[in-house]
Amino acid sequence: MADNTQVIKVGKYEVTLLRDVCIGAATCVAMAPDTFELDENNIAVMNEETSDLPDTILMAAQACPVKAIIVKDIETGEQLWPA
Ligand code: SF4
Repeated sequence: MADNTQVIKVGKYEVTLLRDVCIGAATCVAMAPDTFELDENNIAVMNEETSDLPDTILMAAQACPVKAIIVKDIETGEQLWPA
């Protein structure tokens, strides 16, 4: 559902959050707390004005147990995660 997908740009990365896939495990919140928080339904939502480093967000994406966070390199168009 497009409604439930959030996309932000952080430095060299485009970060897509598949809210329909998220199970609220909050690993991303622990790893990149200025980027991710849980909403009232315990589903992750991203802060567009985050001060987390792009690579911190990539590590948070890699730690998500259900691969709900997709990271692309804006310049090359390459999807970095899931690889
Ligand atoms: S780590 Fe994944 S499942 Fe857990 S809150 Fe973040 S996006 Fe959702």
